[in-house]
Amino acid sequence: MTADAITTTDVVIFGGGVAGLWLLNRLRQQGYQAILLESQQLGAGQTRFAQGIIHGGTKYALTGKLTASAEAVGRMPAIWRACLEGQGEIDLRGVNVISPHQYMWSTTSLTSRLSGFFASRVMKSRTLALSKSERPHLFQHKDFRGQVYQLDEPVLDTSTLIRALAEPQRSAISHCDFATLNFEKKNEAIELNWQDNGQQFGVIAKQLVLCAGEGNEDLLSKLGKNEPRMQRRPLNMLMLRGMAEPLFAHCLGSGTVPRITITSHPDEKGWVWYLGGQLAEEGVQRSDQEQIKVAKQEMQTLLPWLDYSHCEWATLRVNRAEPLQPGVKRPDSAFVQHQKNITTVWPTKLALSPLAADMVLDAFAQAGFQTSPEKKYQLAEFPGYASLPWQEKQRWN
Ligand SMILES: Cc1cc2nc3c(=O)[nH]c(=O)nc-3n(C[C@H](O)[C@H](O)[C@H](O)COP(=O)(O)OP(=O)(O)OC[C@H]3O[C@@H](n4cnc5c(N)ncnc54)[C@H](O)[C@@H]3O)c2cc1C
Repeated sequence: MTADAITTTDVVIFGGGVAGLWLLNRLRQQGYQAILLESQQLGAGQTRFAQGIIHGGTKYALTGKLTASAEAVGRMPAIWRACLEGQGEIDLRGVNVISPHQYMWSTTSLTSRLSGFFASRVMKSRTLALSKSERPHLFQHKDFRGQVYQLDEPVLDTSTLIRALAEPQRSAISHCDFATLNFEKKNEAIELNWQDNGQQFGVIAKQLVLCAGEGNEDLLSKLGKNEPRMQRRPLNMLMLRGMAEPLFAHCLGSGTVPRITITSHPDEKGWVWYLGGQLAEEGVQRSDQEQIKVAKQEMQTLLPWLDYSHCEWATLRVNRAEPLQPGVKRPDSAFVQHQKNITTVWPTKLALSPLAADMVLDAFAQAGFQTSPEKKYQLAEFPGYASLPWQEKQRWN
């Protein structure tokens, strides 16, 4: 490779999911020279499978206590709402808010058990008990028994989120074929080079930030590091196509995870209901056919007045990538580990990406990193955008 084909920069971010793209925006705002490399398409990892809920922590308080998870995520809806209104740290006015609120419903027996908890000061600030006429249409049905709460948690279309984060930064985003990627130490910096469409590309970076979700494991190994370690928590999600109206709601169960979490996404046949929660966690052990059977029974039990006979069902297996926890438990908050010139990030929730970016900026500030003057980069092609899972024909076969 000729020397003039090598670009120098302050920071290279690996991974164009929500965490990497949020960080790219924040770093460049602060004057850092930063580029982002994506091995597939933007959003191709967990981000496109996310239900898009900007959690405020309510579902993590279901034990009746305000857990560490609930505390960490509690500030996030306000940060996101400011961005969605064009008043926050990143302009997200281009993002499609599919629902201004996620709701939560409970059966009659659970409502009485949890009534003291919902009346508590902390929960009152996060949940609003709705009268019958205020409820989403589906819960106004005569056969519905129980209580419905409105949560301060908007639901976003993740494909428009990825575009809103990437478009202003196009000139700093490049495809990078992981199979051809090599790292080499250069004094205090790291040189990386890769091939794309028969061309060689090279970058010398002071800092690498790994935001590659599940891909962080291979990147760390290529960098000769075996820490921090990653865990995968698998899910067997469900998609239900052909629903006439949307629903955005958690159904309270008896444990710490909602019995079912439903979000809805428009397509040409109406609405696709996307089902997660305990159903998706426990469904990992089931075959896909069994999972669909259990899901049909569950929907019939929880919302029996709806007609599902014309709907198409599909399963979707996907892993959550997170820092390793004792007992492979759910982490409480975003994870950022900064070591010399490699920083590893797992936001653990889409909603926590702003916090993860702040943690990286804090680590850089504490280490006293200097920014460099603006420059033009010589990069490979823009990687393009991943499709949403329910838009992919093969998933419905
Ligand atoms: C089914 C499901 C539902 C969820 N729902 C929600 C929700 O409603 N609300 C919420 O807050 N969170 C939710 N989450 C969690 C959330 O999706 C993730 O925490 C978040 O998307 C992680 O973003 P990320 O950018 O770290 O990783 P990812 O989205 O996984 O992005 C990583 C990117 O890195 C790229 N990559 C991989 N290897 C390399 C490499 N070597 N070089 C360059 N690029 C590479 C990938 O192609 C990908 O684009 C959900 C997760 C799942 C699985």
